[in-house]
Amino acid sequence: MLHLYDTATRSVRELALREPGKVSIYLCGPTVYGPAHLGHGRATLTYDILRRYLEWTGLDVRLVSNVTDIEDKIIERATREDRPWDEITTECEAMWFRAMDGIGVQRPTDIPHATEYVKQMIELIGALIERDAAYVTDDGVYMDVESVDDYGALAFQSLEDMRAGGGDRMVVGAAQKRHPADFVLWKFTHCEPTASDPSWPSPWGAGRPGWHSECVVMSLDLLGEGFDLHCGGQDLRFPHHENERAQAVALGKTFAHHWMHNGFVVDAEGEKMSKSIGNVSNLLDLIEHYDPRAYRLVLLQSHYRSPVKMGQAGIDQAVASLAGLDAFASRAAAVAIGDSDPAVIAAFRAAMEDDLDTPKAMALVFDTVRAANSAIDAGEAAAGSLVGAVMEICSAFGLELSAGGSDASDDVLAKASALDQARADRDYVAADAIRSELQADGWNVETTKDGTTVRR
Ligand SMILES: [Zn+2]
Repeated sequence: MLHLYDTATRSVRELALREPGKVSIYLCGPTVYGPAHLGHGRATLTYDILRRYLEWTGLDVRLVSNVTDIEDKIIERATREDRPWDEITTECEAMWFRAMDGIGVQRPTDIPHATEYVKQMIELIGALIERDAAYVTDDGVYMDVESVDDYGALAFQSLEDMRAGGGDRMVVGAAQKRHPADFVLWKFTHCEPTASDPSWPSPWGAGRPGWHSECVVMSLDLLGEGFDLHCGGQDLRFPHHENERAQAVALGKTFAHHWMHNGFVVDAEGEKMSKSIGNVSNLLDLIEHYDPRAYRLVLLQSHYRSPVKMGQAGIDQAVASLAGLDAFASRAAAVAIGDSDPAVIAAFRAAMEDDLDTPKAMALVFDTVRAANSAIDAGEAAAGSLVGAVMEICSAFGLELSAGGSDASDDVLAKASALDQARADRDYVAADAIRSELQADGWNVETTKDGTTVRR
């Protein structure tokens, strides 16, 4: 069974399932006010890999991931651009899924929107007030974190430490808060709603919900109490996840059984991805300029809890590795694929069940490719089962290998032959120049003893 690091207990432990055969997962989704960034891509790819692996083992996965379509940043942008707020959210949500489709992230099984859950959020806030876990001030309704015994379980900080540190001073209405860590559940809007600045009626005054309530009502509504896994980026651990959990605990509800957080994406110091990309943190730009599978491979070769350096060298290496895997798939197309080699599959499973050790699993893939190549060279019968194992693991990872040729134009193919000619003439300066030119146009260039191939 899968063992995963659980942030709440700070230990690797078995992901015990509430219902045998079924996995319930909640992933905090995007706030739709701008393009999807590399950090978003890391989170969605991490959980896409987890989901595909669980499905590969035969489990039935329900993955709920919300869309936050009420938030200050959306309203700020709508007001600045004098546009209806829902025009921005609709546009940005479409852009988000374009990016997700581009990097091969499967759609969540459920995609609830905050705007669809305002009534339930109001009910939740009402219930918290009734239990003395929330209070009303001049500018909104706040959660009383001191009413939650183990507040700080995900922050790894006690309430005393938070008070000493001054807590979150940025929150409006901080002067009226009883504790610096108290957070807003409902924000009053003191003006009439406009096309850019919406508000909803509530028993305490017109306004809009704070960010931390939506995931509580959506996860409990769609997955039910005690669902298996709550996940998201490391930046969501505190305050967002802590605050989600606090509301559920205050209502006496069993919340997520297990908490999973992925690491950050960091810039490789002194390295720029490419001048032609411009804003390299934008996912749509990245997949426009590089093989869209490259980011998945970079992440597979890193542990999900470690920070990932994103830079030109890392992407180039991933692109080259993919070219190698594609070349293998194309060579293996001539081999009769057998049942996957059981030893390889057992090693794959062992790596994954140990807190998703995908770097170990990818190393196994490359080792198996080498073994399969040797077996093909030697005409051994074992080749088929080794090829089968590579294909099965890549498919479980959502890494589609291309056995087909390239879709390069005559002009590009002419450049590839010019590169081979330059190499034959031992004019390596010219060969490198042609290679750089092709790469700058977004081609993956692979030169072997049989010549140069180009792929997108
Ligand atoms: Zn959330």
